[in-house]
Amino acid sequence: MVVKVAINGYGTIGKSVADAVTLQDDMKIVGVSKTRPTFEAQIANSKGFPLYVLAGNEKKFESAGIKIKGTIDDMFKEAEIVVDCTPGDFGDQEKANYTKANLKAIFQGGEDHELTGTSFNALANYKEAWGKQFVRVVSCNTSGLIRTLFPLDRDIGIERVNAVMIRRAVDPRDSKKGPVNAIKPVLEIPSHHGPDVQTVMHNLKISTMAVAVPTTLMHVHSVIVDLKKEVKKEDVLKIWESTPRVMLIDGAKGLPSTAEVMEYARDLGHTRGDFNSIIVWRDGMNVVGKTLYYYQAIHQESDVIPENIDCIRSMMKTEADNTKSIQKTEKTMGIK
Ligand code: NAD
Repeated sequence: MVVKVAINGYGTIGKSVADAVTLQDDMKIVGVSKTRPTFEAQIANSKGFPLYVLAGNEKKFESAGIKIKGTIDDMFKEAEIVVDCTPGDFGDQEKANYTKANLKAIFQGGEDHELTGTSFNALANYKEAWGKQFVRVVSCNTSGLIRTLFPLDRDIGIERVNAVMIRRAVDPRDSKKGPVNAIKPVLEIPSHHGPDVQTVMHNLKISTMAVAVPTTLMHVHSVIVDLKKEVKKEDVLKIWESTPRVMLIDGAKGLPSTAEVMEYARDLGHTRGDFNSIIVWRDGMNVVGKTLYYYQAIHQESDVIPENIDCIRSMMKTEADNTKSIQKTEKTMGIK
């Protein structure tokens, strides 16, 4: 079975999900949507993705020399599942459209958990999305926390987590927002990230705070975990070594910051300089008694992309085993 996938909102996340779908043999892109005739609409044309636009905007695209296939409503008729990549908070409006078109849809982390009632991470709760009509793939920060915490909770047991998110100010493409010369604490305490992790790891005790800093590259998390028993540093590293989409690196080998990590991604030939895996500094972690301390870096634009692919398989019931889906996604996307 080849699942017909539409991407609603061909922006930062939508473009990468479209490329990732194209790499799979069990799903294909039947359309992508744009609201404005930007360079991305031209890219969609050049990649051969059928392009659909908001009704009433057809002429704007045609006069910009961009080929369109129809309106977004026309695109819905071609698809079995929509990956909604519109900016956050469009969810209620779009969910009504998908319901009307009798379509399944995946929403992104900019939407609230309540929109779908099911939030997703391929390793932690693949089965919860099984056959569902609406599911949300959790945000980049939440995906990052779950990737490293879920295997620790499963294999050792977690008493409590305290974490601080040091967040990139904006994505590299964005010239409108900041901060440019400030460090901006998120004054809502605890931050929303802890409760968001609990939408997937329902019983985890976790509190989070966040600070936005003037960089576009990655987020960094500073995490303190009270474990249920004493373990050695090596025990934790061993768990992460065998965890998909977690990569251990050494600061001492020329990777002391997110700048070098992003250069490493480019040198490895990763598309768009992406790092789909969560980066954990091997030489930046320690265990003292039952307390684990570590730093991890999240490439915000790309860690959620493989999760969207696995989420399609669970919702469309095309692969029952999450390990098989994860492995297939990693092989096709070249994730190590
Ligand atoms: P973006 O602004 O880069 O792209 C959004 C796209 O949707 C644009 O192409 C825009 O033209 C289009 N769009 C706007 N209104 C639309 C409408 N009514 N119908 C169809 N298309 C419309 O946004 P993004 O960064 O890709 O974010 C998308 C979602 O992914 C958000 O929920 C966001 O919170 C989440 N997310 C973003 C990141 C990130 O780092 N950018 C990471 C994880 C999750």
